[in-house]
Amino acid sequence: MNQKNNYFNFLQILNNESGNFDMIIVTNTEGTIELYNNFLSQLCNSANKDEILLQKIKINQLFKLEKETFEQLFSNLDELGYYEGDINFTLSYNQLIPFFVKAFKVDGEFNERYRYVFLFKLKEISEIERDPLEQKSIVKQKDLGITNRSGNELTTSIEELERLKEDFLSSVSHELRTPLASIIGFAETLKSDPELPKELAAEFLDIILNESKRLAATINDLLDVSQLYKDELKLQKTNVNLNDLLLKAYEQYKPIATEIEFTCKVREKPIFIHADENKLQQAINNLVSNAIKFTPEEGKVLINLYESELYYVIEVKDTGLGIPKKDIDKIFDRFYRVERPGLEIRGIGLGLSITKKILELHNFKIEVESEENKGSTFKILIPKES
Ligand code: ADP
Repeated sequence: MNQKNNYFNFLQILNNESGNFDMIIVTNTEGTIELYNNFLSQLCNSANKDEILLQKIKINQLFKLEKETFEQLFSNLDELGYYEGDINFTLSYNQLIPFFVKAFKVDGEFNERYRYVFLFKLKEISEIERDPLEQKSIVKQKDLGITNRSGNELTTSIEELERLKEDFLSSVSHELRTPLASIIGFAETLKSDPELPKELAAEFLDIILNESKRLAATINDLLDVSQLYKDELKLQKTNVNLNDLLLKAYEQYKPIATEIEFTCKVREKPIFIHADENKLQQAINNLVSNAIKFTPEEGKVLINLYESELYYVIEVKDTGLGIPKKDIDKIFDRFYRVERPGLEIRGIGLGLSITKKILELHNFKIEVESEENKGSTFKILIPKES
């Protein structure tokens, strides 16, 4: 790398080095942060991207280092133009995140405020903390008018893997963070203001309870999917009455289906099959929960049980948003979610993959028909001899 009088070239550093690092921070001569990538906003949990810039935060405020250590770091940087070492980032609740850091003094030719470039690589932390969008991009790449070399070198299969990872990371981290942020926020408010009117406090407690339940459900889905995809999973089969499964799903979701017409039709006589009751219930519940979630006010959701020559058929039919043709083959993939611009619909894209896996383990089939803005029908086909 070119180094002139202990200065490095800003763009060259970014192009040659930053692809191997997770977090990028650029400061001015005083150490005040001027530029950074999403990784930092995620670590600081800053909703507003410009918050860090507006507050004129100094880089040493982010790390748990003795004052002298930081002075040492900057004096090294000034003398040699370069520093390399280990450093711990401190989260607000004192959790430390270990990074390896490489820092460079740059020439100010690109922008005179950009004086030090810090590149951080995570040492030991789960992938989940990474911002998927940053895996392929450089600091505000768009603003700088430069491109990341590694970005275009991916083969199709790697891209597919990346997509899976990105889908996973973006939906899971969002679905874990959002409820947690509101649980912490409302609990802090309750604690800090003992005078809060009773009704408001009760409302906050309700939010905390609901968000905690949602968090628990997300975590359960994550655990279920990893269980189901392990080969050794054994079903606990007993004789199960299909009518009961449908009625249970109906009773469970009735309280939340207040804005739609929600009905359940079962057979007059019991229909017994051999199945894992809890798992099959879960598979049906997921379909019902989706049908309600994706059906706007005044729409209809019907749970129905009928038989054909070869199968008992459990049908969950809705008049909701429907599924675009291009997505229909992928909705059963793990972590796949249909993009619905402008709609904030919660989920991590696991429900259908869990349902499909449960049905596969039973040798049952699932079929779907759907039309955008008309609705969807999911059918579980259970061979009569099972
Ligand atoms: P999620 O938990 O995100 O809902 P699922 O695996 O249950 O994940 O579903 C995957 C995707 O399939 C969803 O993002 C949703 O857009 C689509 N989908 C599933 N069921 C329905 C339905 N009944 N109507 C419309 N879209 C649906």
